[in-house]
Amino acid sequence: MKTLKYDVVVVGGGPAGSSVARYAARGGAKVLMLEKRQEVGSPVRCGEGVSKKILQKIELEPLESWIANEVAGAKIISPSGSEFELSEDLAGNETGYIIRRDIFDKHLAKLAAVEGADIMVKTTATSLIKEDGKIKGVLARHLGEEYRIEATVTVAADGFEARLSREAGLKTSLKLRDVDICIQYEMVGVKADPLYTEFYVGQGYAPGGYVWIFPKSERVANVGIGVNLMFSERGATPRRYLEKFIASREDLKGAKIVEINGGAVSVSMPPESVTLPGFAAVGDSARMIDPLTGGGVVNGAVAGRVLGEALGRMVQGKLSPEEALAEYEKGWRKKMEVQLARNYLAKEKLLELTDEEMNDLIEAVGSIKLEGLSTAAILKAVKEAKPSLAEKFSDFL
Ligand SMILES: Cc1cc2nc3c(=O)[nH]c(=O)nc-3n(C[C@H](O)[C@H](O)[C@H](O)COP(=O)(O)OP(=O)(O)OC[C@H]3O[C@@H](n4cnc5c(N)ncnc54)[C@H](O)[C@@H]3O)c2cc1C
Repeated sequence: MKTLKYDVVVVGGGPAGSSVARYAARGGAKVLMLEKRQEVGSPVRCGEGVSKKILQKIELEPLESWIANEVAGAKIISPSGSEFELSEDLAGNETGYIIRRDIFDKHLAKLAAVEGADIMVKTTATSLIKEDGKIKGVLARHLGEEYRIEATVTVAADGFEARLSREAGLKTSLKLRDVDICIQYEMVGVKADPLYTEFYVGQGYAPGGYVWIFPKSERVANVGIGVNLMFSERGATPRRYLEKFIASREDLKGAKIVEINGGAVSVSMPPESVTLPGFAAVGDSARMIDPLTGGGVVNGAVAGRVLGEALGRMVQGKLSPEEALAEYEKGWRKKMEVQLARNYLAKEKLLELTDEEMNDLIEAVGSIKLEGLSTAAILKAVKEAKPSLAEKFSDFL
């Protein structure tokens, strides 16, 4: 068995892992990032919608190579066909750019490498090294060879399955109602409005979730669905609902599927702690996905930056490993925990709405001026249009 020694070992080469590796390496840390697949970014499991705010949040240049399309906003459409529009800056973490996720993820990994991080692809972390009550690295397999990789801090950025977080002892297990099952087709030959992402909400479209159309151009779009696992377990399979949606649409008629991908997203609150001595989880493995939209790219990358910067300060001697992990825990929560909690509550409410109530809600929200789209403004409009519905949302105030 070969032994390697690093300040930081990052398991997983998605947006969260690459962001940790990039910022830790920039701070001077000796970093190794492991990716089990043969290529960072492939195959894609994503709707590929991200907010433009990602540019300044993790210092990115908007490059044509990873941006397929730029949208002006999102349309939210109810079962009765009423809709409201949100400009891209109000529309959350999934609207702004439709990206080419494979190229995007590889671009982030390259930025980490440019800062000096080492990367090993086709390398699977098989278990954690636990000694004296601390996590001290991972055992890994690369092209048939076993490795012992020792590190001051081990980072789990291994995605939704969160295998390392679980092995470490973090409370990342999920209730049925806190998981959405997704499937998506990339379709060619659609008639899409390239200026808007579209979200179709209501139990008839997608029980406990929504159908999305994310246009990559006028003729190409990602058409996907997320169904809450509670309903999926009762037989509401996402594929059946997606097929029904596609069959009902003139603008998707005759379009050809050139890719199918899918997977699960957590629509939960994050655990109370995502760190342990010598260990931190980030991104999907720390349940940082937005529970309302299912978008996790921006949050994972942003939290990755917070962690990477703290680890940089650790190797500069400004923070002990314990202090660096405490700074990370405090820092990422400050950036997104309130939003995650509010959106978790919203998701819980929407899970219970009938299609009639959803129609009322979308109509009421559609009557608000866009610049006034705050929780209070939404509630005021709902209260005026449908007082009984407003009751359901009263604990938002
Ligand atoms: C169908 C679908 C559509 C989605 N659409 C959107 C969207 O439009 N916008 C959005 O923002 N989010 C979307 N998401 C969520 C988004 O894809 C995730 O939130 C995001 O990828 C999280 O990034 P991450 O770095 O935490 O994890 P991941 O991107 O999952 O990366 C984890 C990496 O770790 C690697 N890995 C796992 N185990 C090991 C191991 N033991 N050793 C080494 N490597 C390992 C994996 O191969 C993977 O590359 C979608 C998800 C699904 C399933």
